[in-house]
Amino acid sequence: MPTYPPEPFRIKVTESIRLISPEEREAALKEAGYNLFSMNAEDIFIDLLTDSGTGAMSQEQWAALMRGDESYAGARSYHRLKAAVDDIFGFKYFVPTHQGRAAENILSACLVKENQWVPSNMHFDTTDANIRARGGRPANLVIDEAFDPGDPHPFKGNMDLAKLKAFIEKVGAANIPFGMMTVTNNAGGGQPVSMENLKAVADAYASNRIPFFIDAARYAENCFFIKQREPGFEHKSVKEIAHEMFALADGMTMSAKKDAIVNIGGLLCLNDEMLFEQLKNELILREGFPTYGGLAGRDLDAMAVGLYEGLDEAYLSYRIGQTAYLAARINEAGIPTIQPAGGHAVYIDVLAIVPHIPQSEFPAQAMAVELYREGAIRGCEIGSVMFAHHDPDTGKMIYPKLELLRLAIPRRTYTQSHMDYVADCAARIKARADKVKGYKFTYAPELLRHFTARFEPL
Ligand SMILES: *Cc1c(COP(=O)(O)O)cnc(C)c1O
Repeated sequence: MPTYPPEPFRIKVTESIRLISPEEREAALKEAGYNLFSMNAEDIFIDLLTDSGTGAMSQEQWAALMRGDESYAGARSYHRLKAAVDDIFGFKYFVPTHQGRAAENILSACLVKENQWVPSNMHFDTTDANIRARGGRPANLVIDEAFDPGDPHPFKGNMDLAKLKAFIEKVGAANIPFGMMTVTNNAGGGQPVSMENLKAVADAYASNRIPFFIDAARYAENCFFIKQREPGFEHKSVKEIAHEMFALADGMTMSAKKDAIVNIGGLLCLNDEMLFEQLKNELILREGFPTYGGLAGRDLDAMAVGLYEGLDEAYLSYRIGQTAYLAARINEAGIPTIQPAGGHAVYIDVLAIVPHIPQSEFPAQAMAVELYREGAIRGCEIGSVMFAHHDPDTGKMIYPKLELLRLAIPRRTYTQSHMDYVADCAARIKARADKVKGYKFTYAPELLRHFTARFEPL
């Protein structure tokens, strides 16, 4: 049992949270069409829906907000962000964007053509949807161990190199406008990618002249795992490891709402000058002028500070330790989670608890609703609601290999007693799991349907 790491900060500002009664929770569920994305935050006690933009900013970040320069073009805030981005990532060009998906949209708009393929270890939902929205086809080529929740492989986010090479051979490099790697692999359990694997992937892309973009949302957590787990990196700093990682790529997209610990923001970095000119025009059309990219000057300053705080090794050690602690407490209750614990979240292996619910009845969604019922805790379904889709060739429904309930941990926000409360609620659901029933859609849009779908219990 891992011990809970003492937080490397103390609390200066608090925000009240309130636990509503079981009857009020039932009414709130019904009102929201059993979709936790449609609930009011006020009705949530512990919110583990996402770690995206939900972390606590530091006093240094709040102070930086006051220095925000709101000049339309060439603001001081932009130059402070540029200095941090250049120092940490080392690409020739970058633009800020309002979120990670804006960076993905702009990249896809400029590069993806109808029926072209974009391989990755695993695309996150917004990346997947942005590629599809341009007529492209995302391909997930992660190692098979990623689909075995109990497998303790230290780098379950790795690309399967044999699959990648066969894939490039099959569809042809000319039909691959760019290749990606998601670090850490959010859709597959927040699992890291090794440096050795990144190097091999970079080689495979480079030898086929395929530009390589890293989805860097949680690059700092990934680099910390490399330091902990990959031989030869134990004496390098996380920042040095990050330099080594980004030197392998031609560019990156990043949701700054993750490892840059800000409430809003994103980045798009790259080395290709011609593509940069194209991206800038798309950015101006959709986001804003290239020195603010859809953000306020103060947001850029908070990001500039947060990028360094996200790399701090005392912080990362606490962060990764807190996640491992929650996973261990949940496992103690006989509930399997993806092993080893990921960086930002604990992923409950739902099919192991409610094997009687078929994937067409959304078992992970059912589990998410139960956790709300039990303790007003909000998790996130990562299963058939998010990922089941019709095959564009055959029209057949394709279900994801795993049904997961993700408990994402906001950064620097909850304490040990909150984690214990979550584990205790999960244990009570386990005791009555055979009575949990599935759901059906009453409404579902075509793309990113998990955000707005409505359900009815079966
Ligand atoms: C959050 C996330 C994104 C999308 O970023 P937004 O800021 O939410 O638009 C993309 N990729 C990964 C891996 C993510 O976790």
